[in-house]
This record gives sequence, structure tokens and C-alpha cells, in this order.
Amino acid sequence: MVHAPSLQHPLPNERIRFQAPLKPEAAKRTLAETEALCRTRGARLTPIRRRVLEVLLGTAKPLGAYDLADALASQGRRLAPITVYRALDFLIEQGLAYRLASRNAYIASSSSHGTAAFLICEACGEASEITSTDVSETVLRVLTEQGYQPLARALEITGRCQHCQDVH
Ligand SMILES: [Zn+2]
Repeated sequence: MVHAPSLQHPLPNERIRFQAPLKPEAAKRTLAETEALCRTRGARLTPIRRRVLEVLLGTAKPLGAYDLADALASQGRRLAPITVYRALDFLIEQGLAYRLASRNAYIASSSSHGTAAFLICEACGEASEITSTDVSETVLRVLTEQGYQPLARALEITGRCQHCQDVH
């Protein structure tokens, strides 16, 4: 049996589905569900963690830690980057956010278990998450055959989104 905890998460029933950007009402609902989920895990979605997630839920564009600090500043005083990083670490740990290494930016993530890839558009900068157990299982098998231990749980693919292909 292959054992690679970084690619798989043994909590198949704990899943909140969404695809950012969410409208404010949908975001509010997702945040409430997330708060409840965190509680069942014994984790706490503190006000700062919640605000960072809220900003991520509102955009399809990956945001850097400084973008996030700026976005949160308009809602009150500016947060120190370290505070933002700590909140991001928590969200990543809980499978609620993902760091796109190729962009050094963060995006809300809804499926920490089955995410196969993030498709990043070079034209508009938006990223979308695709889930495919076929792809993630194949990738995991190939990496295992190579004796390779991945640190990331998803592929990052750059190209053009459907919308940007139509615009010439
Ligand atoms: Zn695009």
C-alpha cells in the first residue's frame, strides 16, 4: 500500500464545496459551515483567520500575503504580514487555502482531499481548482514509482482559461 499523507487526507465526509469567487451571502454561509467544521476538529477559526478566508473566498485571483494585508486594511487597521502568514498557515493546515508556489500567492481551496490541479490563467490571473481522483491517484503512483515524496498536494498548470481563449 502506498502511504503519502501529503496527497491524501483521511476525512472524506468533512467536505465543504465551493468555487471562489463567492457572492457575499454564499461566502457568509461557507464561513459559517467552515466555522462549524473547524469546531468539530477542535480548531478555532479566529476573527483574523475568518477575515483572511473571507477575502480569499471573494476572489478567483490568487493573492499574495501583502495583497491580503492591504485588502484587510480597508476593513480596519492594517494587519502585520506575520499575522496574515499565521492565519494562512492555519487555513492551509485545515485544507481551506492553498499556496500556489508558482505565484507565491494564496487561494481558497474547497477540496483538500481530491484536488488534482490548479489551473492558472496567464491572461486574467484567475485560478480554478479541479478535482479528479483519477489524476491525483495516477500522479501519486508515478511519484511513488520514482521514490519521490511530494510536498505539494496538487499540480499547478498555467495556460489560458476558457474565457480568455475567446478574447483575441
Ligand atoms: Zn483567463
